[in-house]
Amino acid sequence: MSDTTALARQDIAAHLHPFTNLAAHADVGPLMVTRGDGIYVEDEQGRRYIEGMSGLWCSALGFSHPRLVAAGVKALQTLPYYHTFNHRSNPAVAELAERLLAVAPVPMARVFFANSGSEANDSAVKMIWYYHNAIGQPNKKKILARQRAYHGVTVASASLSGLPTNHRDFDLPIDRISHVDCPHHYRYGLPGESEADFATRLAEALEQRILAEGPDTVAAFFAEPVMGAGGVIVPPQTYFPKVQAVLRKYDVLLVADEVICGFGRTGNMFGSTTLGLQPDLLTCAKALSSGYVPISAVMVSQRVHEALAANSGKIGTFGHGYTYSGHPVACAIALETLKVFEDERIVERVRALTPAFQAGLHQLGQRASVGESRGVGLIGALELVADKATRQPHAPEVKAGPRLAALAQAEGLIVRAMGDTVALCPPLIISEAELATLFQRLGTAFDRYE
Ligand code: PLP
Repeated sequence: MSDTTALARQDIAAHLHPFTNLAAHADVGPLMVTRGDGIYVEDEQGRRYIEGMSGLWCSALGFSHPRLVAAGVKALQTLPYYHTFNHRSNPAVAELAERLLAVAPVPMARVFFANSGSEANDSAVKMIWYYHNAIGQPNKKKILARQRAYHGVTVASASLSGLPTNHRDFDLPIDRISHVDCPHHYRYGLPGESEADFATRLAEALEQRILAEGPDTVAAFFAEPVMGAGGVIVPPQTYFPKVQAVLRKYDVLLVADEVICGFGRTGNMFGSTTLGLQPDLLTCAKALSSGYVPISAVMVSQRVHEALAANSGKIGTFGHGYTYSGHPVACAIALETLKVFEDERIVERVRALTPAFQAGLHQLGQRASVGESRGVGLIGALELVADKATRQPHAPEVKAGPRLAALAQAEGLIVRAMGDTVALCPPLIISEAELATLFQRLGTAFDRYE
């Protein structure tokens, strides 16, 4: 175990960790992170790390933005809690909803608030079922998502996720949710198949799947514009336009999961703009508050909102919502986050930094140990392979990704290993000089790894 401090011992004895090998936790021990500033976090021993992942893809404005802190303090002093059930509201939630509609990638009619990406996606699933009951299509309830997607961990959102560890021994996915192909050309393209042909093949396979299920039973398709936890998978440019043509043909709703891609990450405010999605519903979280407080949102289009409103009028209420939906402190911090995005021109900043970031990734991609480097905007990944020429993956016991991530951590850089893919998703406030340091540290980690 790395650090046997009193805090580490407390953690080991009392804390059941999410997404952690629980059996190994006592041996591995926690990295006890005690503070953060700018793009850095610091551990109990005072070691500083560049947070190359913005925590879990979320702290877009770094770990100490004074305006977010001030907005949170003011909100706590003014109205630390109130709910939004039964026609109650607060100024922050009303203003935040209006601002989100103003920046939405396509016209949206209303915003629903929750606390996490999982809850947002779970809420979207329920809204889709409710919607189809409302419009007199009670059999149109099946939902398609994709292999290697990540949409969260509630029963419905974990079912949407297409990663084996989210299903195995949890008795998931649930019956109405199933998966189609992952649009990763490097791994699933046929020999000699172009990206465009690959995208066409996947769209055709989707159409065949909808026909096999029965078009009047398929309600919606969930997609991250760029898959995050599945390995930062950027689909071919023609993929979403082709997929959407199929969805429209069979009146299948498109849900864009913008939990990672939302708020500047890909070089536009939303990944939907970068990758060409025109969603009917959109979920977002994470950078919405720069991760400072839990908050997520579901935006719904006019036709979905009209049906929800009409049905709730019939029933007497829209029977869904959380104690903390529209929490005034979370909304105040999210609102300030959006104002900072505007005032500090964060999206323009991402565009300016993108060439250096992508060049850094591309350069590491030339190494013999890297099969593919990929990314868009300020998100990217390196896929480690046993053989660059044949794309042969490492045997699982090699733990190539975790080994590289541990070497990077020793150099003062936190990256995320997802199997043999190592991801980078730095705070959007990173400077060019800090970006150079990040790549220099990762390069040293690669020197040791190889
Ligand atoms: N959707 C995507 C694309 C995500 O990356 C995540 C989390 O990483 C989620 C949903 C789930 O969000 P949360 O962990 O806040 O429930």
